[in-house]
Amino acid sequence: MIYLDHLLKATQGTLRQASKHVHFQAFNHDTRQISPHEIFVAVRGERGNGHDHVLDAVRKGATGLLLSGQTFQQFSEQTKSVLANEEITIVLVEDTRRALQQYASAILEIWHPTVIAVTGSVGKTSTKEAIATVLSRQFTTFRSWQNYNDMLGIPLSLGRLEARHEYAVLELGCDHPGEIAALSRVVRPQIGVLTNISPVQLQYFSSLEHLAFELGTLLTSLPEGGQFFYNQEDPIIRALLEQRVHHAPSTVSCHPFLPAGYAVDEQPGVTVRWDGIQGTIKRRHTSGELERGEDEQVTVQLRSQLLGEHQFTTMLAAYQIGLSRGIYPSLVEQALTTLKPLPGRLNPLPGIRQSVLLDDTHNAAPASVKAGLQTLSALAGERSQRIAILGDMLHLGDTEAEAHRAIGREISQYVDYLITRGEWATLIAEEARQAGMDNERIIMTSTHEDAAQAARRILNTLPESDGCAVILIKGSEEIRMERVTELLMARPWEASELLVRQTPGWKKTIFRHAERPTWVEIDLNAIGSNTRHIASMVGPRTRVLVALKADAYGHGALKVARTVLQNGASMLGVATVSEAIPLRDAHITAPILVFGYVPRWQMREALRLGVSVTIYSREEAQALSQAAQALDKTVRVHVKVDTGMGRLGVRFEELPTIIELVREASQLPGLELEGIYTHFAQADAEDQSHVRMQLERFQGVLQQLEEEGLRPPIVHAANSAATLSLPEARFDMVRPGIAIYGLEPSPFVRLPEGFRPALAFKTQVSQVKWIPAGEGISYGSTYITPRPTLIAVLPVGYADGFRRSPQNWGSVLIHGQEASLLGRVCMDQCMVDVTHIPQVRMGDEVVLIGRQGEATLTAEEVANRLGTVNYEVVSELLARVPRVD
Ligand SMILES: *Cc1c(COP(=O)(O)O)cnc(C)c1O
Repeated sequence: MIYLDHLLKATQGTLRQASKHVHFQAFNHDTRQISPHEIFVAVRGERGNGHDHVLDAVRKGATGLLLSGQTFQQFSEQTKSVLANEEITIVLVEDTRRALQQYASAILEIWHPTVIAVTGSVGKTSTKEAIATVLSRQFTTFRSWQNYNDMLGIPLSLGRLEARHEYAVLELGCDHPGEIAALSRVVRPQIGVLTNISPVQLQYFSSLEHLAFELGTLLTSLPEGGQFFYNQEDPIIRALLEQRVHHAPSTVSCHPFLPAGYAVDEQPGVTVRWDGIQGTIKRRHTSGELERGEDEQVTVQLRSQLLGEHQFTTMLAAYQIGLSRGIYPSLVEQALTTLKPLPGRLNPLPGIRQSVLLDDTHNAAPASVKAGLQTLSALAGERSQRIAILGDMLHLGDTEAEAHRAIGREISQYVDYLITRGEWATLIAEEARQAGMDNERIIMTSTHEDAAQAARRILNTLPESDGCAVILIKGSEEIRMERVTELLMARPWEASELLVRQTPGWKKTIFRHAERPTWVEIDLNAIGSNTRHIASMVGPRTRVLVALKADAYGHGALKVARTVLQNGASMLGVATVSEAIPLRDAHITAPILVFGYVPRWQMREALRLGVSVTIYSREEAQALSQAAQALDKTVRVHVKVDTGMGRLGVRFEELPTIIELVREASQLPGLELEGIYTHFAQADAEDQSHVRMQLERFQGVLQQLEEEGLRPPIVHAANSAATLSLPEARFDMVRPGIAIYGLEPSPFVRLPEGFRPALAFKTQVSQVKWIPAGEGISYGSTYITPRPTLIAVLPVGYADGFRRSPQNWGSVLIHGQEASLLGRVCMDQCMVDVTHIPQVRMGDEVVLIGRQGEATLTAEEVANRLGTVNYEVVSELLARVPRVD
């Protein structure tokens, strides 16, 4: 509960508008989650400004507003008059974030609960919850919500602190240097708890020592008489304590809740032993024993439903703190038995086909992945198959690659199957393979759906029985592995209660930043689903080759390759040998056909990569045969026939040459004749006469070959347009490209219902400003402002594939509205008119291709404006534009 008096006094704010509302249930800064009787706090964030949403907050029932005075002055007269007519209290301050901190500090002083601050690299939230659960047995105890643990989150959650609270247990985050000290100044803890120190969030700290120093600030911030509880088993904490304990006030007392060497009985007087996880998969718990005895020997059994050895540490911290606050030991033990895993923290959930999901999707770091694997292995026991689905671990500084590899080296002792999702995680798979794990049991995927599908396939091979498999699901926050869990839950409708990151705000957040504020977003699920559409359309007897040339039409060849191969494609097509290299380097073993010219000097490389080569001359076939013999290898070839495209291939009229070439290809040593194909020039035209003519010519060639008994195993002709519109042209294999990316082959051959575009091209406003009338914009001043004009500068230019001439993009989308380009597009920047969208701010999202609110700007529309085709628009998005998925 927040009282207006307290708020005004603490923040020195101005009561701009009074109403009957003089107290509020809580603070809220997110209008998507606001409840009636809360006070809305407008904060400026990385992706928006709360001040733009005040009317929304009022509409949703906020009865108070805490706003920046300066921004309030800039509100439109209309907004001000709407607010003036509402029964609502408005407090103005200089800086809303600072005001929240001032309130937090003041309210802790007014109601003076004993503040317990918990920090550490991992396990903070579980430990905070455990301590609060234990203390609640005897005291009214406040706990910070969920993992609201920073300079904004802690003050926001302290809005719910009340006079009756005797204890406040708060989690302190540690994402950047100075944070713990700053948070400690605000909340002034009397008791500090340090769980462990391991390499997470290392991108913000130069080294582990630096991180340790930061976490150690909690100790040195304690007041006289403070108490510090720590995990002595952690060697980094031990070292830290030796250095830093002299910097703490002399009367601070230090208490290890887990003694060093506990597993080997080293500590005289205290013995702690972890018994491991017991019970069956359905009823399980973690337990351990603690023997304390100086005068008398006492043995305590600690037991809870939390899973894993690290959770035993959590229990011990809560146990020791409970005892130190005078709570009777049996009460503490009893409180511990009620602890249940939090969402996303080794939380067992019923999975499909009677499997057990071990949902550990909250976050991931090397130590917690290892703990997860150990728990998986212990829980599965003898009877169940152990499956780990692992996403990338992020924020490990430059230890990222090695950290993934290290997990891969050990993983086969813990799991029977490994499924990875994402690029870093493929290193786990590679290393597991190198360490001898069966390749059949390692599946690499790029999307949540494919990862879940891979698990489903494994489950389908197992007899359905209780706990036939235990599946650990884990990855860093940004990787959003909870989506995989959701896809595997027996009762997916419970996802919103049982999984992490289920609020509307979280669901919308894409907080994985690209390397620059101009980026391409690829929806790999769309690519997977488009591929499945094509595969089901052509049926099981026709193979699908996906054209991946030009970096998969600008979509990123590697991830697209993995995705299409998981979703029904069995072959890949590239334009050049060089395009096959990154695919093979990433252990993609599927057949790859090179459509284009392979010069003699590159034949050996083609052989090394094991790609299929297109041939259309006998001399080249012979040269290829020689190269193959020299390397003692076999190369698969496809004969190319030109039936009217006028591009590569033997002309269809030269039938004897074609027959001769096919014969040689099937007889020359080192060659294996795999296919024959042609390519259509007008499959996408309104008038089908040309494509039908090419098809007839090709059929004529095939008939001759059949008569000679020379028909190659794979006959193929159809690109996307022909696949969709000319079923007779599908033969043994189709070769779609554009349709896989969800783009229309042409205005005449449209995609059927269900295909979705996969690519969005976006940037962010880099500056907004007024330009007076009569001024020029951009090089050559080709555009002169006819009136005072509000412009937005965008950090995208022709060197990103955002074309300059002869025609440019015309307009882009901002706030769901069109904004026209002004003047020439520069190499790296351009300007748009936003006079009609005055709410535009620096940092706002700009859509160059894709959707924004109700508005869309498709690649097809852009192609129209540029006077070209969608193919060119997407494949021209240059390599310096980062891709995110
Ligand atoms: C690019 C290409 C394709 C795919 O064409 P789409 O029109 O994108 O479906 C098929 N075959 C060959 C030989 C190609 O070069």
